[in-house]
Amino acid sequence: MMFLSRSPLFRLTVSALLLSACGVEAQERQGDPEQAERRRAMVEQIESYGVRDSATLAAMRAVPRHEFVPGRYRDRAYGDHPLPIGHGQTISQPYIVAYMTEILELEPGMKVLEIGTGSGYQAAVLAEIGCDVYTMEIFGALAESARERLGRLAYDSVEVRHGDGHYGWPEAAPFEAIIVTAAAGHIPPALVDQLEVGGRMVIPVGSVYGVQNLILVTKRDEGEVRTRNLLPVRFVPMLEGLR
Ligand code: SAH
Repeated sequence: MMFLSRSPLFRLTVSALLLSACGVEAQERQGDPEQAERRRAMVEQIESYGVRDSATLAAMRAVPRHEFVPGRYRDRAYGDHPLPIGHGQTISQPYIVAYMTEILELEPGMKVLEIGTGSGYQAAVLAEIGCDVYTMEIFGALAESARERLGRLAYDSVEVRHGDGHYGWPEAAPFEAIIVTAAAGHIPPALVDQLEVGGRMVIPVGSVYGVQNLILVTKRDEGEVRTRNLLPVRFVPMLEGLR
């Protein structure tokens, strides 16, 4: 690149071109340095709680969570708590997002189904790891705003569908991993069907007001499914009927 330094104007033009080709997008996604610093602190805390998977931690260091919360909560975007996103729904607590992501043992290129798009934050974390993400949301308005937001942030490997997650996404099945981010009364049979053999599903199961447990479902063979209780959690309920 030495010859470029001969002409300052040429150098300026070249760096402007390079910026518009690749730099701007990443910069816009990650926000200002202050947000990046808050993200680093958030991930440090998550790590101290025991999350070890480096891909999960790197993804959470990269996704601009402040873009996924309503404007009035922006200054609280990097605290370890859920926040309201409208329609009585919430964006999950960062630690739980990290824990659920890690437990899926994801690799780049895996096809993942998410039930409960909400803000689109969890979907962005999965996309940042390199997965192809199919995400379903029962509120049309939330599906629409998540689709717009993920598009604006150039998460192109995410597809959002307005639909009831109890029935999954048969046209795109099977999935190597499934993550459900609303509490189900039972493990929906369609999701077990759409899980690939060898695949993993993580799902909160339990009643709205009572105890919910995060469950890991592994599919050993067609018709052979194992479940393991991971930890008690509190999620908004998995609803029925499109809204
Ligand atoms: N993963 C989201 C947060 C999930 S909150 C995020 O990262 O922001 C749970 C979401 O599940 C809510 O948006 C709720 O509307 C949605 N939901 C509830 N029942 C559903 C169903 N049956 N199918 C799809 N989405 C559902």
